[in-house]
Amino acid sequence: MKRVAVIGGGIGGLTAAGVLARKGHQVTLFEATEALGGKAGSVSLDGLTFDTGPTVMTMPDTVRATFAELGAEDLMPRLERVALQTRYRWPDGRVFDCWEDLERAAEQADALEREGGRSLRAFFREAETIYRAAGQPYLEAPYETMMGFMARAARNGLSTLVTGLKLSTLDGLARAHFSGPHLRQFVGRFATYAGASPYEANAAFAMIAHIERAFGVHHAVGGLGGIVRGLEQAARRNGVEVVLGRKATHTSRGAEFIVDERAFDAVIVNADPLQHRGDVDQPLTMSGYVVMFEAPTRLALPHHTILFSADYAKEFAELGSGRVADELTIHLCHPAATDPTMAPAGKSGLYAMVNVPPMPAGEEARWPEHARRLEAFIRARVKALVPELKDVELTTVAERTPVDLAKKGAPRGSIYGFLPHGRFGPFKRPAIRGERPGLFFAGGGTHPGGGVPLVMLSGRFAAGLTAEHLGGAS
Ligand SMILES: Cc1cc2nc3c(=O)[nH]c(=O)nc-3n(C[C@H](O)[C@H](O)[C@H](O)COP(=O)(O)OP(=O)(O)OC[C@H]3O[C@@H](n4cnc5c(N)ncnc54)[C@H](O)[C@@H]3O)c2cc1C
Repeated sequence: MKRVAVIGGGIGGLTAAGVLARKGHQVTLFEATEALGGKAGSVSLDGLTFDTGPTVMTMPDTVRATFAELGAEDLMPRLERVALQTRYRWPDGRVFDCWEDLERAAEQADALEREGGRSLRAFFREAETIYRAAGQPYLEAPYETMMGFMARAARNGLSTLVTGLKLSTLDGLARAHFSGPHLRQFVGRFATYAGASPYEANAAFAMIAHIERAFGVHHAVGGLGGIVRGLEQAARRNGVEVVLGRKATHTSRGAEFIVDERAFDAVIVNADPLQHRGDVDQPLTMSGYVVMFEAPTRLALPHHTILFSADYAKEFAELGSGRVADELTIHLCHPAATDPTMAPAGKSGLYAMVNVPPMPAGEEARWPEHARRLEAFIRARVKALVPELKDVELTTVAERTPVDLAKKGAPRGSIYGFLPHGRFGPFKRPAIRGERPGLFFAGGGTHPGGGVPLVMLSGRFAAGLTAEHLGGAS
């Protein structure tokens, strides 16, 4: 039995800790705050349950496989498939209901541009090829070298590998498939799942569109906090010692690591790698502002709605220059649409999120002012663009700002840390294997990137590499 310290109790840290403890190691998890889950979780306010960070669950098989690896299938919340994945709305009144069922979505696309349905089918075919060429090999194993990645990619056939190498930006791919601005914007939004810009992120991010369509958009019944609780219980049941309220660092003593004055044989850092190394002045992924509303009636809204800005290029240019854009795209999540346990009868909770830039130094003090402007913008926008909300009185019950994210170790409030822009952006992420033997990283800032299922993968990869280092089974 070897001693392992895990620094950080986000989803990646909880997963890594639980998996290593199940392999028989003695694991201590240090969490700086008084609660586990990091950016992911739910709050209950006035009978309403809100997810406070992630709301869209993809890759349900990865979530299931993670709970299975922890020996904790019994602790996994039920995942409900959301058939109408997202309703997209534009300021010009256009609407696109993106159903999981491609034929239904294609019918909707026909109304947006000439041959929209045919183009949508072709786009999803290419997104699947991209997933097989770049996605599967990237997600299958820890990324260590380009050679290893290429070898995994080649197994899917050389033609898919060639496809992967030819990729332009996500916006370039959208332009190749669609003639009009609406469906181009629909494609471009998938870059924001990684906190990136469609004008600078590789077209490989189209694989997210395939993942959503092929494996479904899901909701954790009862709220995403159930995933955090399940992981916590699994970790504790496997024997993980959890130390809350302890901001930890590690130093070396010979081959050992010292964390909180205790000796360990290996360390997994779930804190963002750039924050951990104090390297936060480089370009970072976007941050986010979330406001939670109570509606005094059960709203007739789908689970997810996107209210696009009129000029996406301008929005990203402003975000890229480090300022809160004038006109922002809004993500609305109305979980009671598919899960009645999220709100009492006759009421609804509504989560609204916009992307904002990572905070420049000294910006914390200005956030109360930014938050009031953003809340007012969101209120005005939902009234103007969503007919179902026009006459509904929305009461603000809570909000989360980049300052809250920074308190959870997010560098300058950036949700995913390292910015994967450029053709080889995703390959330049800080690696899972740290700079000295026995040090590893897990979480959204390392491979394979952010998002609940990906950080679970990251935690499992980090646990595997750690076990290998310690001489046990990986
Ligand atoms: C507003 C918002 C919306 C999102 N939407 C989605 C979505 O729809 N779908 C999706 O899949 N994902 C979404 N995400 C992303 C997802 O939440 C994250 O990628 C994921 O939860 C990150 O997990 P992590 O393992 O990297 O840990 P984190 O959540 O980053 O947690 C790290 C933990 O480490 C702790 N820590 C840091 N430093 C130390 C230290 N020195 N000592 C001890 N503890 C430390 C922190 O306090 C924190 O608890 C969203 C995130 C946000 C904020």
